[in-house]
Amino acid sequence: MLISSKLPAVGTTIFTVMSRLAAEHGAINLSQGFPDFSPPARLLERVTHYMAAGANQYPPMAGVLPLREAIAEKVNRLYGARVDVESEVTVTAGATQAIFTAISACVRPGDEVIVFAPVYDSYGPGIELNGGVVKYAQLRFPDYRPDWTEVRSLITPRTRMIIINSPHNPSAAVLTAADMLELEQAINGTNIVIVSDEVYEHVVFDGARHESVLRYPRLAERSFVVSSFGKTYHVTGWKIAYCVAPRELMAEFRKAHQFIVFTVHHPSQLALADFMREAPEFADELATFYQGKRDFFRQQLEDSRFTLLPSAGTYFQLAQYDAISDEADTDFVRRLTTQHGVAAIPVSVFSPHATSERVIRFCFAKNEATLAAAGARLRAI
Ligand code: PMP
Ligand code: GLN
Repeated sequence: MLISSKLPAVGTTIFTVMSRLAAEHGAINLSQGFPDFSPPARLLERVTHYMAAGANQYPPMAGVLPLREAIAEKVNRLYGARVDVESEVTVTAGATQAIFTAISACVRPGDEVIVFAPVYDSYGPGIELNGGVVKYAQLRFPDYRPDWTEVRSLITPRTRMIIINSPHNPSAAVLTAADMLELEQAINGTNIVIVSDEVYEHVVFDGARHESVLRYPRLAERSFVVSSFGKTYHVTGWKIAYCVAPRELMAEFRKAHQFIVFTVHHPSQLALADFMREAPEFADELATFYQGKRDFFRQQLEDSRFTLLPSAGTYFQLAQYDAISDEADTDFVRRLTTQHGVAAIPVSVFSPHATSERVIRFCFAKNEATLAAAGARLRAI
């Protein structure tokens, strides 16, 4: 049967495409972003503990109370935010679901949503499935900084939402305090809501601080702030994340959440609550942990023909390959995977229009042995 597609321009996500190609060719997979090392043993022990202890039926719709409390404590400790565990925190099935749910709760057909390109690939389809119109502000090569004049020019009476993401995937750039003040000014006097994708909140390098929306009361009062346990605790396959939002926004979020997914895997929630309480330093030390990996990977590529861009946060490293090839990045990553045995992500797929830069993204959330093996192959090109 033929149906008219609601997403005619969308194919299979690049993460699935590249991970599959890497597996087919036995390539080292530095494409899709996930660690190749284990989560903390104590966290795993807690999940099996709670399964054996009987936490196997539906948890509360918004998430178990101890986890919501641990989240509230964390955002208070790190960002000075006071959030009500009953009405302002919801546990979600990954950040992807949290973002989709926030969009579904707010965006009506014809509403405009501003995103920053290159843009994480789930935002656009989430907006379009809800009848919204995507408006792109451009983050320009090579520093991928927002142009606030352009953002202001994109705001119209139809603008319902702006989605920001810092640290930013795929560029690895971070928003500064000045950016947050620009955003505050840009939306002052409007009804625009913000979705702030902060899944890499604990991975900001070189001593910079993460500029969470939760530090800025005038933004926080109209924002859905999203983080992901997948990134913080090396458990991307668990698909558990959370959303923090003021009571009125969260009430609308939960109306959608309860019918999109209702609730989230019960024993992992209890395990995460214990682990966050017992080991708050794990998240605090994550930036140092990944900065070591960033520096190791950059060293590996020092004598290669790749040109490395800065990586200020996330676990991604952008690289230019002009000195190697003038192929399109989508062709180059295919050849890199099949002929040279290293998979990467082409950055052009995150932009609505063709870009002239030839840039690819590597994920360095890997053991040193993996990064060293990839480094040897990349230096040989
Ligand atoms: N936003 C960004 C910027 C991401 O990089 C990712 C995934 N890595 C997500 C959202 C989705 O997170 P999750 O796996 O928790 O759905
Ligand atoms: N966020 C991960 C990345 O950027 C991938 C998540 C996914 O595969 N959907 O690589």
